[in-house]
Amino acid sequence: MTKRVAIIGAGPSGLAQLRAFQSAFKQGAEPVELVCYEKQSDWGGQWNYTWHTGLDEHGEPVHSSMYRYLWSNGPKECLEFADYTFEEHFDKPIASYPPREVLWDYIKGRVEKADVRRYIRFNCPVRHVAFDETSKEFHVTIHDHDTDAVETATFDHVIVASGHFSTPNKPKFEGFENFNGRVLHAHDFRDAMEFHGKDLLLIGSSFSAEDIGSQCYKYGARSITTSYRTAPMGFDWPENWEEKPLLQRVSGNTAYFADGTSKRVDAIILCTGYLHHFPFLPDNLRLKTNNRLWPLGLYEGVVWEDNPQMFYLGMQDQWYTFNMFDAQAWFVRDVILGHIALPDQATMKRKSAEWRAREEALTDNESMVRFQGDYVHHLIKQTDYPSFDIESVNQIFLDWVQHKEDGIMTFRDRSYRSVMTGTQAPAHHTRWLDAMDDSLEAFLNAPERTPSRENAPKAQIRRKQSA
Ligand SMILES: Cc1cc2nc3c(=O)[nH]c(=O)nc-3n(C[C@H](O)[C@H](O)[C@H](O)COP(=O)(O)OP(=O)(O)OC[C@H]3O[C@@H](n4cnc5c(N)ncnc54)[C@H](O)[C@@H]3O)c2cc1C
Repeated sequence: MTKRVAIIGAGPSGLAQLRAFQSAFKQGAEPVELVCYEKQSDWGGQWNYTWHTGLDEHGEPVHSSMYRYLWSNGPKECLEFADYTFEEHFDKPIASYPPREVLWDYIKGRVEKADVRRYIRFNCPVRHVAFDETSKEFHVTIHDHDTDAVETATFDHVIVASGHFSTPNKPKFEGFENFNGRVLHAHDFRDAMEFHGKDLLLIGSSFSAEDIGSQCYKYGARSITTSYRTAPMGFDWPENWEEKPLLQRVSGNTAYFADGTSKRVDAIILCTGYLHHFPFLPDNLRLKTNNRLWPLGLYEGVVWEDNPQMFYLGMQDQWYTFNMFDAQAWFVRDVILGHIALPDQATMKRKSAEWRAREEALTDNESMVRFQGDYVHHLIKQTDYPSFDIESVNQIFLDWVQHKEDGIMTFRDRSYRSVMTGTQAPAHHTRWLDAMDDSLEAFLNAPERTPSRENAPKAQIRRKQSA
């Protein structure tokens, strides 16, 4: 009987899964009945930008946490698909740090070429998944917003690819109720222009705080304060950016910090991370983890050990992204097609524990990058996903880390060599700090003349010489 497979989510992970199956079908693999349920009206997951915050047009929680002016926070050479290069898609080499719309276009290019959109049911949030122990089948209940009907369908396998950077982790600080400004989570941040001329406080010291702060600086915030729990980020921030220890309380518009200092601020953005949140899964199928490189319960990082008919994609904290999702999707496909045999549960748990022990011993960025690189390599060598030089990708990650140290406002002006094609990326036509238009057209086509410094927001002109 033809196997029935449900994929939950058409972001980069779910799309990798569709592409993996399509690649096998093309080579004559037995057919599989595929249905990908996607709650949004288009594909691309986080990369599918929305102006909505809170609830969407159907009353569903908004998925994407991305914002206008978001540019890739790492080199595109680290996430390049091994089976579909940037050069193939854009027909020319492009700079190393594309804006969101450019990466979205690239993601779409591969799956349009593979013709897999027909497997996706858009506007269909999955409401519930249940496993029938007798028939060994899953019952997947969805709400089709196009027909306003709730339906249940039966599958042999379920692949959860619903992402984990959507549901905000929201710590509360004393005085928030009476703060005389806006308090929001990074998930709801959309347009840096909202904070032009404002004094902004960001709680957190990871990618969101660093990047949202940089956006707001670029678009003319009056000052940026970031507040850390354990350690400051320590970059060479511009002169109107300072780092303070943890916020203790706010009163009126004044924020009070653990070192006894205070500051008047107009708005507070909680850059405090996200929760792995699967409201559609019962306890026995639900991954429970914080954001880390090796969540437990997943053999090879993808197989649900308590029920190996079920899989998760992209649940790890991410240095590697698109090509790691590919490595996972190809592996899951081959398990489902019967090309890879799974060991018994005790062996799966033991192997996971070994990866976890390695993960717990990681001490710095370099060891984390190498750990995830080893994992991607370990998966790829088990399937026919085109192999690529992981050590070269690791090295680009490490160069990127160093380039951020060298200049947090200039690292996006660097360029790297593609591991897949060997082509050196060109320098971008405009420095990131001066590139105010993040559209695909503006990125791909050099402007007729360089924007004048006269037009730049004041905060840019005030930045330190070193930036
Ligand atoms: C602000 C931000 C910036 C980032 N920047 C970068 C970057 O520069 N470079 C990089 O490589 N990565 C970046 N990432 C990481 C990003 O998460 C990955 O690149 C990638 O989008 C993860 O793909 P995914 O498919 O696993 O999850 P997602 O992209 O989150 O996609 C999950 C999909 O599942 C759907 N879904 C969720 N629940 C349901 C349900 N119940 N029913 C049906 N469908 C559902 C969602 O609508 C979504 O389409 C960033 C993430 C964030 C939040």
